[in-house]
Amino acid sequence: MIFRVFDKDELKKLFNVMVSANKVIGPVEIGRDRDNKPIYAFNEVKSFDSVRLDYTTTKLPAKRYFLPFKENLATFSLDADDWQKKVDYNIDRPFIFFGLHACDINALNKLDKVLLGSIYPMPYYAAKRENMFIIGLDCTPQPYCFCRSMGADTALHGFDMFITDVGDLYFVEILSDTAFNFLKNIKTAEPVEDDHIQYMKVVSEKNKKFTTHVDTTDLTKILDMEFQSDVWKQWGEQCLACGTCSKVCPTCYCYGVEETIDINLHGAKKTKFLYSCNLIDFAEVAGGHNFRPERHSRLKYRYYHKHRGFVEAYEESLCVGCGRCGEACLAGITVPEVIASVRGEAG
Ligand code: SF4
Ligand code: SF4
Repeated sequence: MIFRVFDKDELKKLFNVMVSANKVIGPVEIGRDRDNKPIYAFNEVKSFDSVRLDYTTTKLPAKRYFLPFKENLATFSLDADDWQKKVDYNIDRPFIFFGLHACDINALNKLDKVLLGSIYPMPYYAAKRENMFIIGLDCTPQPYCFCRSMGADTALHGFDMFITDVGDLYFVEILSDTAFNFLKNIKTAEPVEDDHIQYMKVVSEKNKKFTTHVDTTDLTKILDMEFQSDVWKQWGEQCLACGTCSKVCPTCYCYGVEETIDINLHGAKKTKFLYSCNLIDFAEVAGGHNFRPERHSRLKYRYYHKHRGFVEAYEESLCVGCGRCGEACLAGITVPEVIASVRGEAG
C-alpha cells in the first residue's frame, strides 16, 4: 500500500478531474427529517460543492448502483419463427464512488464473495463491479453504528483510494494504479513521521466514539443452541414483516425473477427484483406451501443467514454493523438488541 498526503484544497481539483470524464456518485443531502436532521443519499454529483464529505449514513446503501432493486435481465423477441434473446448488463459508463465509508466498502467485499466468488457468479453484478472506481472516506461513528464489533470499521481492500481527514491535510491510502495516476493531477507528498502520528491519533479518537457494541464471541454456537428460544417469538410478534430491513441493508442480496410475455406473444422479458426474507411469501413454493408462514421464523432465518450460515461459509458475518436496519425499522428492532436478547443479555 502506498500513502500520500495532500492539502485540503486539492480534493476539489481531484474531483473536477474525475467528473470531467466519468459518472461520479457521491453522498448528497436530499432533505431533512422531522427532527430537522439531514437525510443523505448516494446520487450522481456534478459539482464538488454538493458532495457532503461530513455525511453520516445514507438511508439507502450504495448497492442500488450494482444490485438495483429492479433490473431487466433479458429481453426476448420473436423474429420470423425464432426467439432472439438480448442480454443487457445495464451499465452505461464507468462509475466513480466518491466517499464510501468503510462499512459500505466491506459490504461490497462481502457481496463479492457470493456474487463473484461462488460457483454461480452473477454476470450483471460483475459487469457493474468491474466498472467501478471506489474512493473511501473516513467517518464519525454514530450512536447506532456497531461496525467496530463486526470488524467492518476499517476497510483493508475493496477500494482504489481511501481518504482520511487528519486536520490540515488529507491522508490517502492508495491501492490501485488508476488511483495513483489520478493523484498525479494534484499536488501530493510523501507523509512524514508527524503525518503518521496524526493519522494514528485520528483513528484512536474515532475508536473512542463507538457507543454501541455487539458481543459476537461464540455467536454461531450460541445461535445453534438458541434456535428454539422464545426470544424469536417475541421479536416475531413485534415485527411488521414489511421487509424494510432488507431493503436498506447493504449486504442483503436475495432476489426473485419474474417472466412476462407481451400480450401479442411476440416479446417477453425476464426481470430480477430484490426481495426480503421477512416478507410473507418469501418461502412459498410452487403448489402453495409456505415453509415459513410465521413472522418469527422469517425474522429468525434472516439472523441465521447473516450471523450463522454466512459465517460457516465465509468465516465472517453478513452484517457490517451500519445500523441502517435498526434506524429504518418501524417496530424498533435493532441487531444489537436482538443479538443481546439471544445471548440472554437483554435488560
Ligand atoms: S424492518 Fe423491522 S418490522 Fe420490517 S421486516 Fe424488518 S424487522 Fe420486521
Ligand atoms: S443487518 Fe442491519 S446493521 Fe447489519 S449490514 Fe444490514 S442494515 Fe447494516
